[in-house]
Amino acid sequence: MKLAMIGYGQAGGKILDKFLEYDQRHGSNIVRAALAVNTAKADLMGLQHVPEENRVLVGQSRVKGHGVGADNELGAEVAEEDIDEVMSAMDDVPAHEVDAFLIIAGMGGGSGSGGGPVVARHLKRIYTEPVYALGVLPSSDEGGIYTLNAARSFQTFVRETDNLLVFDNDNWRNAGESMQGGYDAINQEIVDRFGLLFGAGEVEHGGEVAESVVDSSEIINTLSGGGVSTVGYASETIEREDTGLLSRFRGNGGGDDSLDAAQTTNRVTSLVRKATLGRLTLPCEVNGVERGLLVMAGPSKYLNRKGIERGRKWMEEQTGSMEVRGGDYPLRSAGEVSSIVLLSGVTDCARIKQLQQVAIEAQDNIDEIRDESDHNLDNLVNDGQDELEPLF
Ligand code: GDP
Repeated sequence: MKLAMIGYGQAGGKILDKFLEYDQRHGSNIVRAALAVNTAKADLMGLQHVPEENRVLVGQSRVKGHGVGADNELGAEVAEEDIDEVMSAMDDVPAHEVDAFLIIAGMGGGSGSGGGPVVARHLKRIYTEPVYALGVLPSSDEGGIYTLNAARSFQTFVRETDNLLVFDNDNWRNAGESMQGGYDAINQEIVDRFGLLFGAGEVEHGGEVAESVVDSSEIINTLSGGGVSTVGYASETIEREDTGLLSRFRGNGGGDDSLDAAQTTNRVTSLVRKATLGRLTLPCEVNGVERGLLVMAGPSKYLNRKGIERGRKWMEEQTGSMEVRGGDYPLRSAGEVSSIVLLSGVTDCARIKQLQQVAIEAQDNIDEIRDESDHNLDNLVNDGQDELEPLF
């Protein structure tokens, strides 16, 4: 799938940078256009793979390149004010060459959290291609203001995009890791998952012939209908299998192909289960999901059609949805077989409800302190008997 990506804010920019690195390393050619937008100059300068001319600093007249300080209302305002700069940077993107737009942002901050949905709204107004967002939720220990930002940004992103793919930092936190080291590993996880998903619709001509290759239209159809999506992933290294039981069956000259095929089928279906029931980018109930897509990636000979079909049927049972697509993504030199599961139109997410609850508490607390603070300052400054007067 060919994407025009916009990394908005610090997290958005860093993840976009990693996507470009992923593309170079895997030759996947997913990112057809890359734009980094920020209110903080230093963050833009820290990027390594986004070309200089594709970095846009917004809000200079308001915040002078210093960022919006986790104020996402201000983030939205400056994006609206400088939207022409962002959109004209997109003018160079040949829209007919991209299948969709993807806006990437940390929803807990200010620039991307507020500005991302503004850009989505304008892109949707101009282009006919779908506009998706990859929104990152803050981990629950980040505090009230980040949670409040995220809860409001989440609502706005869902309204302004054709689908919001969510990645929850909270689900990937490793105790004892430094923030920076932690984010590097998390960002790698993000691009590995989403890179495989989006790469699936982009099989090169002359590449491996597959039995049923996933097309970008299948990704688009799974995401169409809007709402919120989550992604599951599981993989198994081939080496281990080949030196294990399976290779013995293969290599003993017995030619027991049916057993071989049965093993491969079972392995494929078990990977689908692991991906669906394991760690999702946003934890939520699988039952009740509106649409699903299953992608099996790896060397063709391991992508067993029967296994994929069985896995797909199993997903239909688990989700209760009749709209589950499935196919393969042949990767000749991959050292593993992977299963990527896209669950679109999720509705039962305790994590989101909990985030909203904390956000409401944070909002009430902020309002209360603001009200009290006017009163308390008045008490401090005035002498109580009105005997003192200010100078002028
Ligand atoms: P902005 O620059 O004002 O848009 O704000 P940031 O992008 O710095 O981010 C705010 C939120 O994004 C934080 O609260 C974190 O939850 C998250 N975040 C920041 N940097 C990263 C990163 O590199 N990776 C990930 N996964 N999350 C990040």
